[in-house]
Amino acid sequence: MKENRIAIIGGGASGIVAALIASKKNNCEILLFEKNHILGRKILSTGAGKCNLSNQDISPDNYNSGAQTFLKKVFLKAKPKEILNFLKDTGLWLKSEHDGRIFPRCMNAQEVVDALLLGLQKPNIKIRKLTEVLEIIKIKNGFTVKTQAVKPKWDKTSFKPKIESFDCEKLILACGGKSYPHIGGGDHGYKLAHSLGLELSNLSCSIVPLIVKEKWPIDLSGIRCDVLLSAYSKNETPMSNKRGSGSESSETKALGDKKIAETSGEILFTDYGISGPATLNASRNIVQSLKKGKVECQINFLPELSKKEMETLLTNRLKKMAVLNEKKADSFLKGIFEDKISRIIANKAGIKKETFLSRVKSDFIEKLIPAITAFNFEISSAKSFENAMATAGGVELSQINPETFEVKAHKGLYITGELLDIDGDSGGYNLHFAFTSGFLAGTNAGKNPARRRDR
Ligand SMILES: Cc1cc2nc3c(=O)[nH]c(=O)nc-3n(C[C@H](O)[C@H](O)[C@H](O)COP(=O)(O)OP(=O)(O)OC[C@H]3O[C@@H](n4cnc5c(N)ncnc54)[C@H](O)[C@@H]3O)c2cc1C
Repeated sequence: MKENRIAIIGGGASGIVAALIASKKNNCEILLFEKNHILGRKILSTGAGKCNLSNQDISPDNYNSGAQTFLKKVFLKAKPKEILNFLKDTGLWLKSEHDGRIFPRCMNAQEVVDALLLGLQKPNIKIRKLTEVLEIIKIKNGFTVKTQAVKPKWDKTSFKPKIESFDCEKLILACGGKSYPHIGGGDHGYKLAHSLGLELSNLSCSIVPLIVKEKWPIDLSGIRCDVLLSAYSKNETPMSNKRGSGSESSETKALGDKKIAETSGEILFTDYGISGPATLNASRNIVQSLKKGKVECQINFLPELSKKEMETLLTNRLKKMAVLNEKKADSFLKGIFEDKISRIIANKAGIKKETFLSRVKSDFIEKLIPAITAFNFEISSAKSFENAMATAGGVELSQINPETFEVKAHKGLYITGELLDIDGDSGGYNLHFAFTSGFLAGTNAGKNPARRRDR
């Protein structure tokens, strides 16, 4: 067994940070395995290439409810500010958006990866790219890691995969989640963790676009709009965290369901359904509820107005527009909403588009308001892991020490990042957690050798 050698499986956000921190102890040798031909591949795709790496408001409330007690301890041990300072020390300049999201000032994910990789150029760090870890064997005072060389996609020659074995004293499992398999996601890490006897909770997609049962989104495909999005299910207890009041609106009572998510912000209509920040933020709760039954959503297209204000606005508008005899009902909302959205709302309200505004019935406004503020539709399912930005579920947290990320039952084994049963909201929370877990695991793995401690 190679003493003071730390093997890290996965050169993503948490694995790179763990390597940087653990390598500060010069007597440690770090072996970093990555199956891709580059390190930090997923980081490059984050924040649409801009890398939303953290948030001004990091709190356990922004993660799955089952992880919040664990995360309280984590964020006490490595305060969000400490992680931001660590990132700044790599040379990165950070900036905050008005909504609290933190990006590199240059808005370029490549700069984040480059800054992190610069620190890996040290004599005590050995990087093995295009090397997949197939098996981990627990040995006395350490682990044996079995690897196989990965054939690069561009290599057209015949390829005999080289199998090798490496012994190490400590091991950091940083293989990431299942999402985006074409850039490194997969179930490798879960299988390795399971092979070491660790319990896993069920995996599902999070931060994922949603498929709408009806076909109307096709007509709006590509359109973005600021909305309030609420989701309801009969089979759930109402939401009660800071992202919603937990109260039931009159429309909710009409549906007879419980509110399970509520987000405001931009929604993107697609040919299959809905995406965009508001959808992605609501998606975790919706995916969980879909496992139990039907989920209905409701869009408020004008959340900035109260019902009274809307009545006044639309009544005055009708008075003015009805004077012009030639104006038809389908043009009534033009200028408030994008044209295609106006038509979908009018259609939902059952308004005949060819009717002249001067001749609409007295209940015109009454019918229009619910179509604007409570536009209901059913979600049939979520897109798959191919399109999910995070994985919910994973290695159960009761097995992990929140201050060190060491597995309680296996001294010297650490698990970090998305492989754990922790998933954050969209907004920089997942990368922040990946960096934090890598930071704490690296700090601890770089400390006292496990062997001596065990004696
Ligand atoms: C498209 C997209 C956009 C995102 N945008 C954001 C965002 O803006 N902000 C945010 O906070 N989060 C974002 N995320 C989530 C964030 O990227 C992840 O939560 C984070 O990268 C997880 O870090 P990690 O270290 O656990 O895993 P990863 O960064 O995924 O790294 C794991 C690495 O391990 C390697 N690996 C796996 N198995 C093996 C093996 N057996 N042997 C060798 N190597 C292996 C993989 O190839 C991979 O490189 C986004 C995710 C996606 C997919």
